[in-house]
Amino acid sequence: MVVAEEKDLLKEKLKEIFGYGSFRGNQEVVIKNILSGRNTFVIMPTGAGKSLCYQLPAMVKDGLAIVISPLIALMKNQVDQLNAHGVHARFLNSTLSKSEITRLRKDALSGSIKLLYVAPESLNKEENIAFLQKVNVSFVAIDEAHCISEWGHDFRPEYRKIKSMIGQLGDLPVIALTATATPKVQLDIQKNLQMEEADVFLSSFNRKNLYYEVRPKKETKKQLIRFLKENKGKSGVVYCLSRKKVEEIAQLLNVNGFKAAPYHAGLEPDVRMRNQDAFLNEEVNIIVATIAFGMGIDKPDVRFVVHYDVPKSLEGYYQETGRAGRDGLEGNCLMFYSHNDLNKLEKFNKDKSVQERENARILLQEMEFYAESPVCRRKQLLHYFGEEYKGDNCGMCDNCIHPRERFEGMDFVKIALEAVVQTNERFALGHLVNVIRGIEDEYVKSYGHFDLKVFGKGDTESEDFWKSVIRQALIYQYMEKDIENVGVLKISEKGKKFLKKPHSIELAKDHDFTTDVEDEEVMDRVPTNTKSYDVKLFEMLKDLRKKVAKEKDLPPYVIFQDPSLEEMATTYPTNKEELASVNGVGMGKVNKFGKDFLTLIQKYVDDNDIETASDVVVKSSVNKSKAKIQIIQQIDRKIELDEIADSLKMSFEELLTEIENICYSGTKLNIDYFIEQVLEDDKQEQIYDYFLNSETDDIGAALAAFKGEDDTDFSEENLRLMRIKFLSEYAN
Ligand code: ADP
Ligand code: MG
Repeated sequence: MVVAEEKDLLKEKLKEIFGYGSFRGNQEVVIKNILSGRNTFVIMPTGAGKSLCYQLPAMVKDGLAIVISPLIALMKNQVDQLNAHGVHARFLNSTLSKSEITRLRKDALSGSIKLLYVAPESLNKEENIAFLQKVNVSFVAIDEAHCISEWGHDFRPEYRKIKSMIGQLGDLPVIALTATATPKVQLDIQKNLQMEEADVFLSSFNRKNLYYEVRPKKETKKQLIRFLKENKGKSGVVYCLSRKKVEEIAQLLNVNGFKAAPYHAGLEPDVRMRNQDAFLNEEVNIIVATIAFGMGIDKPDVRFVVHYDVPKSLEGYYQETGRAGRDGLEGNCLMFYSHNDLNKLEKFNKDKSVQERENARILLQEMEFYAESPVCRRKQLLHYFGEEYKGDNCGMCDNCIHPRERFEGMDFVKIALEAVVQTNERFALGHLVNVIRGIEDEYVKSYGHFDLKVFGKGDTESEDFWKSVIRQALIYQYMEKDIENVGVLKISEKGKKFLKKPHSIELAKDHDFTTDVEDEEVMDRVPTNTKSYDVKLFEMLKDLRKKVAKEKDLPPYVIFQDPSLEEMATTYPTNKEELASVNGVGMGKVNKFGKDFLTLIQKYVDDNDIETASDVVVKSSVNKSKAKIQIIQQIDRKIELDEIADSLKMSFEELLTEIENICYSGTKLNIDYFIEQVLEDDKQEQIYDYFLNSETDDIGAALAAFKGEDDTDFSEENLRLMRIKFLSEYAN
């Protein structure tokens, strides 16, 4: 009973403070866990909503929550966002003056502050520890916790001391959060924080709305300009490796009529800050930056992330691309790749210790394989973070949209696995390839591996070919990585079964980035969804948002985020209550910023004779139309249909009926991403053909037509899903 009450309280607070109607993913369980005083470790991709996991409990619990974050430059921004919701949050870092610190201490002791953002450097100071010891602290949150581990990216030495610092404040519950952690990094973080016993909440790393693409680094400037022209007016980041390159590209873009600003650690701090703010405030659309830019950036409407140069690791790449489309809407991730970049990166490491150099080399190799691999990008990225992506075609990466040439791989995978087994599962890829190809180098000699049966069995194929085969065997889980020994490959259970009874495996050919690629092939774009909201009103709302933001000296998204504006441009709220019911709004924001928006919408509605929700008197129909909008929005964002049904408290069947209604009233919905997972291509075709040639779209008739076929494939549900696809593509 207590639990039920708590649950309702959390939901109420969620709506009241943040304006959200429901929790996302693991948020609710995580929040309950930290509220019950348990140490909690959260791994959730960027944009999934980690902040809420500590912000909401901070509001519910007595006392002040400490949030440790490495990002001094962004603390103000985060605190501004909370203040916009009416939450009393503050920050403590080296940018504060003496008198500001005195005031802060006073307020903290008085108990009015709910969240205090602190930089690890500041927490390390004795005077701050002494003062915090006097404050009633509710719990400690460690954001960007991957900074603890040398095995990830962005390692911060001072993060290693966090455990002893918070130890001095007493025995407090800790919640650590990060967006990237390979299994190895995860272990490292937990060990360092001495929270091996913590409850771990691992969310899927899949960012369904991100489109991944790798293009050869040829005529790169031309390609970049063309890409930016296609994305004119949208916000985006272009990452370059060096400061010099950043300056050069930023200039190039400005000359070509784009509004771009540079960002790197070599700029004066105030220039850097100004450029970052200009980007957040939408005075410039594009920020050209080194990796110094971006961690913790909360701008939700970044529409593209370009890697002009190859990043140093897949963690870094995933994290940087993750900054696109945090609001769940469009996010385009484009990388320019060349081997030469890898060589450059390798040279940077030449002064490091042997071990460090080796680690860096392995990270680079992963990058190389990712770029050159023919396998679905999404599948590869998820695999890298220890997650299996089911399904073979995500429909949202270059490799799925333009599949590479295939070949029968059974015999090759067999040889690769034999090499792993015969060398006793103790070696990394390079050595395995040498054994297979019969190369007698010093390692092969010293281990006597020339005696193995498999030695030289694959000598007709190239080194690159075998590397690719082994990588694909790994991604398809015939092999696995040894967590303790970096680089070492072992055979998996699936691999063992395969060796006993080999079967056909389809492999694909790697990209060949050494030869020229036809331009058109790489320029084909993904089909984008048609908009289901009032585009004109949306643009007007955006302009107003910019104006209000300027007056208040806040970034526009702090006022309202894009999904909220889209919803306003769909439901036309004209009074406070209606506005407060828009997702992401809440009464706090209505009172702070609502007035001008309501006036604008009212005028627009009057000018255009639009029927609004309040005209349609019956209350339930308002809710119904709201559910429709949410369905459309969530399908645009490629949320699983089961998840949508859950979040709207509908059965799957009811959801299907709603979707059908939406389609019959003329809105196109693209549910390919879902169908892809439940029905094989040829079955899809069969059903599609049926609807194309049938006189009626009646489901009963369709069921009868497929009678005698396998009814798991031709079930009523699947037929209905296909009918939705058909209607959307043909009838509408
Ligand atoms: P992360 O730190 O995991 O990268 P954030 O905490 O910055 O992500 O949240 C990303 C976006 O998701 C923000 O724009 C936030 O407003 C939004 N968001 C978070 N929780 C919810 C929710 N329950 N419903 C709707 N939007 C949410
Ligand atoms: Mg965050």
